[in-house]
Amino acid sequence: MVHFVGAGSGAPDLITVRGAKLLGEADVVIYAGSLVNPRLLSYCQESCEIHDSAKMTLEEVIEVIKEAEKQGKTTVRLHTGDSSIYGAVREQFDELIKLGIEYDVCPGVSSFCGAAAALRTEYTLPDVSQTVIITRAAGRTPVPDRESIQSLAAHQATMVLFLSTSLTEKLQAELLEGGYSADTPAAIVYKATWPDEKIFHCTVGTLHQTVTENGLYKTALIIVGGCMGEYYLRSKLYDPEFTTEFREGTR
Ligand code: SAH
Repeated sequence: MVHFVGAGSGAPDLITVRGAKLLGEADVVIYAGSLVNPRLLSYCQESCEIHDSAKMTLEEVIEVIKEAEKQGKTTVRLHTGDSSIYGAVREQFDELIKLGIEYDVCPGVSSFCGAAAALRTEYTLPDVSQTVIITRAAGRTPVPDRESIQSLAAHQATMVLFLSTSLTEKLQAELLEGGYSADTPAAIVYKATWPDEKIFHCTVGTLHQTVTENGLYKTALIIVGGCMGEYYLRSKLYDPEFTTEFREGTR
């Protein structure tokens, strides 16, 4: 059995209770050493065999799992944040299906949630944006043309950019070209929920400068949109006049 487990965004106590339990029971753990906090490995049994996938190919990962299965062992594949976001898990699932190896998935706190917590912000504000676009700038990994930053920027929704801090010169130009004004608020969150977390507030117009001046090339998210500003309307849900399934409004 293989359990794909979301490690959370960094702080070791942000893994789910289920994820920690699965780590504690695993015979073999393959963790994404480039981003997973190694302190999470303290949940493992002493006898647990540990592999760092940062130095491995897909084939090597599958080989370790195959070997573990042969010996009747349980494997945890530990991914950073939640494995559904840039986790490269689908290709692993498909290999396991081919091999007839059973697997399941335990969700984790994605870094975009960790970043919102670090910023103490809400991505979906009434009259500002009711949509969160999760995307990345095209770099060595291409992005389909129909998902260009310009086209997504046209919505002026909240945008969270993964894997993009080394591409901000082009990114900034495309965000502006697409429709965000230069004074649209933005933020960069470096290592959200890690002890060395850092937050930088800027605007779309100063995004590239802020990233370069602070050397933020790795493990950072860029958040763009009016949700980082001052304006919003209060919610209907908690409006005294508004009737809900659970509460009678005054009007
Ligand atoms: N599955 C992960 C994302 C993996 S892609 C998740 O759900 O968060 C790797 C990218 O995620 C990094 O380049 C960075 O953009 C972002 N990232 C991961 N952890 C982060 C953190 N703690 N703080 C800020 N960004 C992070």
